Amino acid sequence: MTGIHDRYGLTAVVNARGTFTPLGVSRSSAEVAAATGEALSEFFVLEELKELAERTITEVTGAPSGTVVHCASAGITLAVAATMTGVSPSRIAALPDTTGLPSGVVLPAGHAVDYGHPITQDILLAGATPVLAGRETVCSLADLREAVSPPDVACLLLVSSRLTRGEPVSLPAAVAVAHRRGIPVIVDGAAQDFRIEELLGTGADLVIVSGQKYLGSPTAGLVLGRAEAVRAVRAQEKGIGRAMKPSKEAILGVVAALRARHGMDRHSWERHQHDKVVRFTERAGTLRGVTAEPVADPTGLPVPRARLTIDADSAGLSATGVAEALAQGAPPIWVMTQGQERGELTFELVPLTGAEIELILDRLAGLLPA
Ligand SMILES: *Cc1c(COP(=O)(O)O)cnc(C)c1O
Repeated sequence: MTGIHDRYGLTAVVNARGTFTPLGVSRSSAEVAAATGEALSEFFVLEELKELAERTITEVTGAPSGTVVHCASAGITLAVAATMTGVSPSRIAALPDTTGLPSGVVLPAGHAVDYGHPITQDILLAGATPVLAGRETVCSLADLREAVSPPDVACLLLVSSRLTRGEPVSLPAAVAVAHRRGIPVIVDGAAQDFRIEELLGTGADLVIVSGQKYLGSPTAGLVLGRAEAVRAVRAQEKGIGRAMKPSKEAILGVVAALRARHGMDRHSWERHQHDKVVRFTERAGTLRGVTAEPVADPTGLPVPRARLTIDADSAGLSATGVAEALAQGAPPIWVMTQGQERGELTFELVPLTGAEIELILDRLAGLLPA
């Protein structure tokens, strides 16, 4: 489809599955790609890049402080490390040996997600020990209160994601419970870059987001929050953070992506996304056995999606059958399949071109002729 796929014999994919890591996550804008490319052929004083990143994060997000690490997964490990060691050079050098340090990391059982690997492994990598609070179906504030008891607990980790299970945990209330015990709180908001302000508003000490998801930077993790906590994250570069460092091109790509986000007309962007989804559902809804409607993101992202409900009897094909046929065609089309057992398929259109959206509708029409 595009040059680089042809050149190396790679499969060009139509990604209607959202910010999905196995498919390359997102598309960077031309301006972010240019800044990243320019950075690759230059030398820099890395400390200056880090200061620039911190200034830009602060200006654009309103966070008191922030830094860039390799990815959100690295951000979780390094934030956990920071709560255990502070800026102590000897403690930082000792990790993942946590002898003598509080090293329990409490998380609601329903937040022990698997986003491609278990999030508990991010905790273990720092030398800490995950402690699950409550049950997968429900973690009450009383369950949390019981779990976040010093002296063994290093921090509370909360996840904001559509992967979490069980009854929602109120993040501000959970943060307050931990803070009452003097325990710092980390929020993993990997795909939630649109909601940084709200996540910081929970009172969390550190909030982590991915750069390469909706922000559209090269692969990077942003760790934002209290200045002292961010300093302790940065200090990990002399320890386990060495293996999780951001590249010069990622830092400059993040800076360019944050600048673009700052200049973005959020209202007209959201309207444009909504209109795209409405046009898609109007046409998909005419296909045999299909009901189509726009649905909001369950976590509060300003990203509407198209939900198709497929009645297998009248369509002659189940939702699972449709998803498989789309993925096996040329080019492969990937969609969100959570809910396929209920006949539901969900399409995220944000990064797609008009031609790609037409292609999806054509392929659907071939499978489910009206
Ligand atoms: C994507 C994701 C991550 C990991 O982000 P990376 O930047 O790929 O490391 C962590 N947590 C959640 C909930 C995610 O969705």
